[in-house]
Amino acid sequence: MLEIKNNLESVRRRIAASCSACGRDPAHVGLLAVSKTFGPDAVAQAYAAGQLAFGENYIQEAVEKIQALAHLPLQWHCIGPVQSNKTRLVAEHFDWVQSIDRLKIAERLSAQRPTARGPLQVCIQVNIDRGPSKSGVAAQEALALARAVAALPGLRLRGIMTIPEPAASAQATLAVHRRAEDLFEQLRSAGLDLDTLSMGMSADLEAAIQAGSTLVRVGSAIFGARAA
Ligand SMILES: *Cc1c(COP(=O)(O)O)cnc(C)c1O
Repeated sequence: MLEIKNNLESVRRRIAASCSACGRDPAHVGLLAVSKTFGPDAVAQAYAAGQLAFGENYIQEAVEKIQALAHLPLQWHCIGPVQSNKTRLVAEHFDWVQSIDRLKIAERLSAQRPTARGPLQVCIQVNIDRGPSKSGVAAQEALALARAVAALPGLRLRGIMTIPEPAASAQATLAVHRRAEDLFEQLRSAGLDLDTLSMGMSADLEAAIQAGSTLVRVGSAIFGARAA
């Protein structure tokens, strides 16, 4: 019972330590608790320990949890692939979608977002390390997609998300995160009003924070190992 609370505290300590190591304000690094495959009870325990923002990969599973926990003031982020036939569910139930990598999906979300819910907060997913078999737009296509998405009603573009493959060394991990940071700064220099650089997971949050992450997405270090 205490495990999730203790894990959350240790993740918060890791974030604070990383921030102080590189002179960043911990208030500028958010924590998204990735609750995929864990049930509503685990989410409710994390909420009781002060966690408000949760990330989910599987739409159907997420919608069931969102509905079961509708009495709590939680913020839900979709961080998994979104197929066309799931955009309506996503537009109706989530607060954020970080995994936009095609204009067509963004257009459907824009058209299907209920006005009463306010804009859906979105990030462009970038395949920053050109990982194989991975979703995400290539870095050189990110600006064009970001501009097109930023112009859509019902959506508010907040930034980019990356999910690099585990790298061979700490140095290589940092280098990949630095590439994402450079791209983020390029998009901002191009005039896009962005505040979210979503990168870093259980294994690499320190390097991500060193490279400027504003939102780390942590699953197993909070909820434990997932069944394959
Ligand atoms: C599962 C997942 C995470 C969390 O991964 P952990 O290694 O368990 O912290 C973060 N981001 C995305 C996109 C994921 O799919």
